[in-house]
Amino acid sequence: MDNEASKPEPVTVKGIAVSPGIALGPALLYRSPVLDVDSAQQAPANPAAERERLHAALDRGVIELQALADRVSRDVGQSESDIFTAQALMLADPTIAERADTLIEQTGATAAEALSRAAEEQANILAQLSDPLWRERAVDVQDAARAALAHLTPLQQPTLARALSTVVEPVVVVADDLTPSDTAQMSLDNVCAIALAQGAFTSHAAIIARALHIPAVVGLDPRYMKAIQNGDPLLVDGVRGMVTIHPDEASSDNARTSAERYRRDLRTTQLRRAALTEKHGSTRDGHRIQLLANVGSVADARAASEAGAEGIGLLRTEFLLSEGTALFDEQQQADLYTKVILASGPTQGPIVVRTIDAGGDKPLPALLPSLSQSRQMAEANPALGVRGIRFQAGIAGLLATQLRAIVLTAERTNADVRVMLPMVSTVDEIRAAHQVLASVHADANIAPDRSVPVGVMIETPAAVLTLDLLAQAAVFFSIGTNDLTQYIMAADRLNPQLAALCSPVQPAVLRAISAIRTTAQAAQRHVAVCGEMAGDPLLALLLVGLGIEALSMAPVNIPAVKEALAIRTLAELQAIAERALHLATVGEIEQCLGELAQ
Ligand code: PEP
Ligand code: MG
Repeated sequence: MDNEASKPEPVTVKGIAVSPGIALGPALLYRSPVLDVDSAQQAPANPAAERERLHAALDRGVIELQALADRVSRDVGQSESDIFTAQALMLADPTIAERADTLIEQTGATAAEALSRAAEEQANILAQLSDPLWRERAVDVQDAARAALAHLTPLQQPTLARALSTVVEPVVVVADDLTPSDTAQMSLDNVCAIALAQGAFTSHAAIIARALHIPAVVGLDPRYMKAIQNGDPLLVDGVRGMVTIHPDEASSDNARTSAERYRRDLRTTQLRRAALTEKHGSTRDGHRIQLLANVGSVADARAASEAGAEGIGLLRTEFLLSEGTALFDEQQQADLYTKVILASGPTQGPIVVRTIDAGGDKPLPALLPSLSQSRQMAEANPALGVRGIRFQAGIAGLLATQLRAIVLTAERTNADVRVMLPMVSTVDEIRAAHQVLASVHADANIAPDRSVPVGVMIETPAAVLTLDLLAQAAVFFSIGTNDLTQYIMAADRLNPQLAALCSPVQPAVLRAISAIRTTAQAAQRHVAVCGEMAGDPLLALLLVGLGIEALSMAPVNIPAVKEALAIRTLAELQAIAERALHLATVGEIEQCLGELAQ
């Protein structure tokens, strides 16, 4: 009894799913080793010897990065592998080596100190450039330099390899972030999952996790990460993007079964899914479902193309524009959108550009100076505050600049570019955006038949209840189930204590989705879903059963959703959805959906 009482309560933390699979294992807390450049300085500086050490370390770093690139190319794909090839080239490039040589000669620096300073200078130069692609390279220069520095400096903490060499069973690596050299040490034999506070779909750790088929969730709230102790049992769900600390017995048993099945089926699953890459999304009886990608960077767009996406259903532009302190001008924005479109491959599908969805939990530092003093003050209730389209309306020229860039991109690329407005709750908001777009079209001499179509995200209860009215001003809808769920359930999507309440399979949410579909159909408006729900194979099946025609998701989820659709008929999915709509609880609905998993 006492034991039961002292057993910690399960806590579920939501993050970003970057590598699919489910795993259960003890936590291994890890911090990337700090390269102790200062203590390497004790060696008396003999310039010739230091230069020799420098070049030997650079050579070894280049070889290691190239080996990593080869492995990633074999196991994941060419574009991911290119990151490491580029890093190897940076290290082999004479720019850094020559500058480090000079520092050794002129200042008596050690090889480590000179390399560290030369790399930092180079990274600073790149970080100042306006093109975000070059700015991303700044991080790569530092990563690349670490590969060589590791051969010149003592490490202050054990490397991941050393930490892993002592484990007796596969662990869940819990860290802030992991460097390429950390991740190169992992395998499924010693790491069953990864849980990180930093990172994104395209971060190095995410790429390697996918390469090694290690389930991974990143972007986890550091407040909850801090509570994790070494050895704590963790359940990592790399499909839903959730980590449960101290999971209960029932979830642990389920996770063990799923993890075993996942490992057993991995190879055959990959081969089966690869065969579907070129095919369109469709049910077994040929009912077409458009499978689109949610994208926040050029690298995501590449991943979308490789995963067989039929277009981009959500381009999150606040991610594209949120680096640095200066907002991109029209030309820079258009260049970026063009790069995303080119990277997304030869798709003929839509490219849905969502206008900046800032405010609330997505602050955009670049826009801070443009905000009036009252708006710079913290909001008591940010989720209900000035965010999405409300935010855009308050900054002169913000929407106009973005719409000009989008129109310019549409003209330039001839792609099926569309505009989508976030967090809409009234028809007036859409009409105001139309006015701005009309003057952009007029200034650019765009004829009405070439105007960029405008749609809206359905994320607020107000939008659901007035969908017939919104249809007068918007030609397509995309349901943002992440926000729609939090607003319908009045449950903060970022609060892990409310994770069960903030579920997209709550009866209220399913009824809202069904109502949206019915009203949209009557108004002859196309409806997609672009919240996380669309990327979960079982929930995607439910959405199709509810009549949704397009699903937009993280590229990593496309193959599994495509496969789940391909083995079911539309009638089966409609029957399940009909039953789910009449069930009273999340538990009952999940049980009903479980039939689809068999
Ligand atoms: C959503 O709310 O479902 C959505 C896709 O938008 P975001 O997650 O960017 O708020
Ligand atoms: Mg949203």
